[in-house]
Amino acid sequence: ARNIVKIYENGAEELKVLDDVSLQVYQGDFFAILGPSGSGKSTLMNILGCLDLPSTGEYYLDGVDVLAAEENQLADIRNKKIGFIFQKFNLLPRLTAAQNVMLPLLYRGEDEAKAFQLAKEKLSLLGLSERINHRPNELSGGQQQRVAIARAIIGSPQLLLADEPTGNLDSKSSGDAMEIFRELNRQGNTIVIITHDTEVADQVKKIAYIRDGKIHENY
Ligand code: ATP
Ligand code: MG
Repeated sequence: ARNIVKIYENGAEELKVLDDVSLQVYQGDFFAILGPSGSGKSTLMNILGCLDLPSTGEYYLDGVDVLAAEENQLADIRNKKIGFIFQKFNLLPRLTAAQNVMLPLLYRGEDEAKAFQLAKEKLSLLGLSERINHRPNELSGGQQQRVAIARAIIGSPQLLLADEPTGNLDSKSSGDAMEIFRELNRQGNTIVIITHDTEVADQVKKIAYIRDGKIHENY
């Protein structure tokens, strides 16, 4: 990402959230982004995940010029290469935990029975084997977060983008989630975590700080 500027326009008001942000993430990185509330971390994650476009700047993802790409090409990248853990989980309310977790595999055209089997495995890895048939509103915040983690990792995405993935977890569940991320990273997958948690930040390989729309890298 090079010279990224993001301006939100609400009527006549303009808010410059990212101000000339440049960031390089390499394959196999285990990266954390830290910064105060409102500093633009989720905005940056949306741009890195091709869910939103910068106002100006350049962004290349795995050789693809994202600003010049067609929407269907970006959708393909999101579905096949990226796993998302959203700050607000974004689970589908009508689907059970297992059905939510299966989604990325179904988008890729995988067999449903196989996807369900794998979803059960991932949920039990996250300590939710008793909760596979529950809907999100029947789960605690931490359980919903673990469902979101299971959904993000089920397809072993090349790039995992995790926005405060441990924000609702106790230290044991948080440690378990970090171990799962580390294992994914050991297999060569790239991980970018947004976090406030210094214990989480201590475990990554590279850190960048955002403040007032500017980024400061510190390896
Ligand atoms: P937090 O740590 O609280 O999650 P953050 O660093 O993720 O904060 P962002 O969600 O990126 O912050 O928001 C950055 C700024 O942009 C905030 O001032 C927010 O109010 C504003 N903002 C975010 N999304 C929009 C939007 N769609 N339209 C207008 N303003 C927005
Ligand atoms: Mg945020």
